[in-house]
Amino acid sequence: MAHDTNITDLAGIGIGPFNLSLAALADGVSGLCCAFFERKPAFSWHPGLAFADSTMQTSYLKDMVTPVQPTNEWSFLNFLVSHQRFYDFMAARFDTVSRQEFTQYMAWVAHGLPACQFDANIREVDHDGQSFRLWGDNGEITSARAISVGTGPVPYVPEGTPVGPDCFHGISYLNRAPAVAGRRVAVIGGGQTGAEIVLDLLGKRDGPAELTWLSRRSAFWHLQEGGLIDQIYTPGYGETYRALPLDVQTQILADQKLSSDGLTPETADAVYQMIYRRQHLEGRGGVTLRPGRTMTGLRKNGPAFALTARSAADEMEVIHADVVILATGFRTVLPECLAPLAPRLERGPAGELKLAHAYRAVWDGPQDAPIYGLNHGRRSHGIGDPQLSLTAWRSAMILEDLAGRPLFSALREVPAGLVDWAGAATRDEMRISA
Ligand SMILES: Cc1cc2nc3c(=O)[nH]c(=O)nc-3n(C[C@H](O)[C@H](O)[C@H](O)COP(=O)(O)OP(=O)(O)OC[C@H]3O[C@@H](n4cnc5c(N)ncnc54)[C@H](O)[C@@H]3O)c2cc1C
Repeated sequence: MAHDTNITDLAGIGIGPFNLSLAALADGVSGLCCAFFERKPAFSWHPGLAFADSTMQTSYLKDMVTPVQPTNEWSFLNFLVSHQRFYDFMAARFDTVSRQEFTQYMAWVAHGLPACQFDANIREVDHDGQSFRLWGDNGEITSARAISVGTGPVPYVPEGTPVGPDCFHGISYLNRAPAVAGRRVAVIGGGQTGAEIVLDLLGKRDGPAELTWLSRRSAFWHLQEGGLIDQIYTPGYGETYRALPLDVQTQILADQKLSSDGLTPETADAVYQMIYRRQHLEGRGGVTLRPGRTMTGLRKNGPAFALTARSAADEMEVIHADVVILATGFRTVLPECLAPLAPRLERGPAGELKLAHAYRAVWDGPQDAPIYGLNHGRRSHGIGDPQLSLTAWRSAMILEDLAGRPLFSALREVPAGLVDWAGAATRDEMRISA
């Protein structure tokens, strides 16, 4: 890419793990000038769900850089060594690293990279025919040839929810620290976030008098894990997936849901054991588990809430609660700052950026003005897109596309993996015709 010193090659919007990986891998690339902007004053990672004992669902080796460049200085292992923690960490023999420690690692990367700027809210992005212009709270921040959109998904709150101090999305659970002692609490959503909140509520000394956990799923399903399942979180599988027809992709995504959205067995067992103790050893009761229920309404009822749900047997139930916590997931949306470009962007069915080769958003702008979409490719690129497994791989692909030259030897050959996926045989033909 030709270099004009006044114009940044790549401006990244948002510094979550995904743009951070891009920033870390870009750091070692000569001739590329990148800048990343985060509205928060310092790096944090879902602080409202940062329970002391929450653990990562992915290996610490799937960090910002290691899967494509293990020699990069911004690896998790180098974080341990730099903090004189390597031997202590190994001796602790953790099965999985805590989210707290992985957040410390990412904060070390984010604040160590000169390209990462905090307290930098991007309000608006436009394109003047030559370059993207990024506007902040106090005017233009930078001009860039390319942008990467890493603003993350937003919490999903059903329309009409009477949001307030006692009714909110779980993403802010710890920040809000709701008063629950002796009250009736309902947690909506049977995924890992719901489970972690339920576990925290059960462990409180002054916990709720009544706790209802409601899930649309037919049971509180565990995460599906293991070597064979993990094969769908490999670059080779990603290629196979992208070659499938849309209707097949849709079916496959539904089939694969529990490989990323189920409960970790550790959390599920801990919840169950606490309920068992409470019910049978302490004789306290007060906990109701209600899977197979779809919430159909939630309204204020005096100082409390009335929640209606439809069961799998098509019966309507009404649940009364003083506090309602929604663990209802996240949605990928177009960030507001891209509003000036919105009419020019192609979108997927959920409003996400439509992605093509190298995670480029499809738009009517010049070919040499790429908009890279991070965390917009669950439908187009597969189940691994919203999590960390393929993050470094995606970053490397984007940087090679941006630089227009090979940068990472790991990318020269897509590892075949240990499973012969249908469609994999056509990969070479696809590459030839691309
Ligand atoms: C509780 C929780 C635990 C998870 N654990 C794992 C796990 O163990 N393993 C795994 O693989 N995945 C995990 N995930 C899924 C996934 O890895 C994370 O959601 C990840 O944070 C997604 O990264 P991101 O960079 O897309 O977005 P985010 O982390 O949401 O970061 C986006 C950033 O952009 C900033 N921003 C937004 N708009 C602007 C703007 N206009 N200007 C400037 N800054 C802006 C935001 O402030 C934010 O910091 C977890 C998700 C959650 C919710």
